[in-house]
Amino acid sequence: MATKTRRKCAFCGRTENEVSLLISGLEACICDDCANQAHLITMESQKQSGSGFNIDKLPKPKEIKTFLDQYVIGQDEAKKTLSVAVYNHYKRLKYLSEGREETDVEIEKSNIIMVGNTGTGKTLLARTIAKMLTVPFTIVDATVLTEAGYVGEDVESLLSRLLQECDYDPKRAETGIVFIDEIDKIARKSDNPSITRDVSGEGVQQGLLKLLEGSVINVPPYGGRKHPEQQFIQVDTKNILFICGGAFDGIEKRIANRLNTNVVGFDAVEKSAKFDKGNMMQYIAPMDLKAFGLIPEIVGRLPILTYLKPLDRMALRDILTEPKNSIIKQYVHLFKLDDVELTFTDDALDFIVDKAVEYKLGARGLRSIVESVMTEPMFEMPSSKVRKLVVDRDYARQQLENTNLNIISKQMSE
Ligand code: ADP
Repeated sequence: MATKTRRKCAFCGRTENEVSLLISGLEACICDDCANQAHLITMESQKQSGSGFNIDKLPKPKEIKTFLDQYVIGQDEAKKTLSVAVYNHYKRLKYLSEGREETDVEIEKSNIIMVGNTGTGKTLLARTIAKMLTVPFTIVDATVLTEAGYVGEDVESLLSRLLQECDYDPKRAETGIVFIDEIDKIARKSDNPSITRDVSGEGVQQGLLKLLEGSVINVPPYGGRKHPEQQFIQVDTKNILFICGGAFDGIEKRIANRLNTNVVGFDAVEKSAKFDKGNMMQYIAPMDLKAFGLIPEIVGRLPILTYLKPLDRMALRDILTEPKNSIIKQYVHLFKLDDVELTFTDDALDFIVDKAVEYKLGARGLRSIVESVMTEPMFEMPSSKVRKLVVDRDYARQQLENTNLNIISKQMSE
């Protein structure tokens, strides 16, 4: 009589009695532990091969812009400039990866600087591009940076964050995007740097320069200066794309001055009248950044300069409803998960925009206002039998009356 062979895992050799689950294949079995291990190994190898970003399937500038259009309202100039810059950046990487760097035409890296009021979509643009390309991406705030040796963070910490985003794999980090926000805050405070020590200004800009230029940097993987024992990881910044953003408060005046002083002669009045005074930002040029306090070397390393327009009422209204993951769509979805059909009337949406404009909250404030309107129903509806909620102007006003918008407005400007 044939003895029945005991089924066992072909990887670890344990029998079915020793494991909680044994999955049978055609000629062998695998236990749940080994299947989990195999899954982890597969995930790891996918990560190492670039986590979905395929340089050979690089989207064209028009495709990048179309993708941005789904999430970012308006800002066509900035979208176009960014799409081209990002396309060229990764095209250059592809060119280098094919080993063609020896040819006589060397394509230089083109970092980007976006100028525009806070809350106009600079971070959103950078974040959306990174989402599309699935490359490592990090946002860092230039205000935390100080010169080495002073309280604050060293510039190298910008790269620690990028490394953290890609499990400390320097090869992946080297093809990533770093968004440096509030770059205007490290502008030189005075024209004469020697009067006082400017630890968060020119010194930081000098530190930043070596990152932007492209050099091999010793990066403390855990950032900061709190782990003196940590081993540095070397990261070459040659192919990292740096996108900087800043509000550059007051730069319009400098632009206007430059334009007026440039226009001299008989037809000066006529020429200066041609400028659109409501949107001086569109005439921004590298020299304005220098006049604001960025050192010429930094300006030189950010050759692509683009601007974002202030958001008008129409844009704010569109931001509420149009983007793929707009604020209103998110709330409707949230309620749908509780089987509640939520709708907003047009006059309720207009009211929300009016309040954002009245309290100068901009796009950032839209979410806080909607949140205030929806707090009470979000508390009540899950325990109620009502399955439908229509938010109209009166309802929105009533709910908002309990909120002190002055406080929100103050918090947002801090
Ligand atoms: P910035 O970086 O210019 O200060 P953000 O990109 O952080 O501004 O914008 C803040 C928020 O406002 C975003 O998360 C988004 O919800 C909204 N927002 C701002 N501008 C736009 C825009 N042009 N289109 C869609 N949403 C926007």
